[in-house]
Amino acid sequence: MASHQLDLLENALDSLTEALCKYEEGERGEHKAYKFAVLHMAHFVELIFKYHVAEKHPLLIYKDPFSQKLDRTKTITLWDAVNFINNESADTLNKSFRADLEWLKRLRNEIEHHKFSMDVPEVRTTIGRLFRSLMEFINDYTEIDIESSIPERTIATFTVLSDQYAFQLYEAIREAEEIEEANRANYSSGDMTVVRLECPSCGNPTLVINNQSSTGFKCTFCGNEESDDIPATCDICGVDSTVGELDYWETDDDRIESRCYYCSGRYHADKDD
Ligand SMILES: [Zn+2]
Ligand SMILES: [Zn+2]
Repeated sequence: MASHQLDLLENALDSLTEALCKYEEGERGEHKAYKFAVLHMAHFVELIFKYHVAEKHPLLIYKDPFSQKLDRTKTITLWDAVNFINNESADTLNKSFRADLEWLKRLRNEIEHHKFSMDVPEVRTTIGRLFRSLMEFINDYTEIDIESSIPERTIATFTVLSDQYAFQLYEAIREAEEIEEANRANYSSGDMTVVRLECPSCGNPTLVINNQSSTGFKCTFCGNEESDDIPATCDICGVDSTVGELDYWETDDDRIESRCYYCSGRYHADKDD
């Protein structure tokens, strides 16, 4: 490998490490850090694409490789590289990947011109998606072994970002935690309302209160709205219980009535046995 390519690759990996570190800072509540995560990420993408082009021929990294006197100070841009990859094969970079690259380009411009207004959820999800698209590109079209070059301290974030399932679960747990946090005031005021449960459908701690749900709860990961542990009260005596503990009866006027152990008559039935 020519030294220029080695430099590109090394710089690319440095940018990736920086992007991961800044992303982690953002996750810890340092929201300004996402801005730098975007910039480092953009640099990482650019260097990986340039590296890919340089692999075809080292001179292709220069703006005009066919000129009589090669100007080594002028190298191609990210979009030159993107066009090259696209001209090589139209389906290497799919539509959504290209859309995310456009997003990255716009954001990078805004940051550089101080017009950047942060939409944190959008930044987080788009960085995640972009990262996975890029990892796919790296695995399918290059020989680069990224995983083994990632410093230990950023491996966890790297894994979450590169794995669709892990990323979505992480996002869902985070959302559930935020909902729990936002409703914690109810605890201190003495109202011990349950706001977060383990979801029986997907097994994650992501079943949280949701006023759009008919049960009052919805899982932020799988969308399930049901659990035997959802708080409920007996319609007859008003005792606090859970959905699973109550019996449900259809009344004469077609309503569903919940009844506790005593009010349902089960207590008496069990006693008589
Ligand atoms: Zn679930
Ligand atoms: Zn009752």
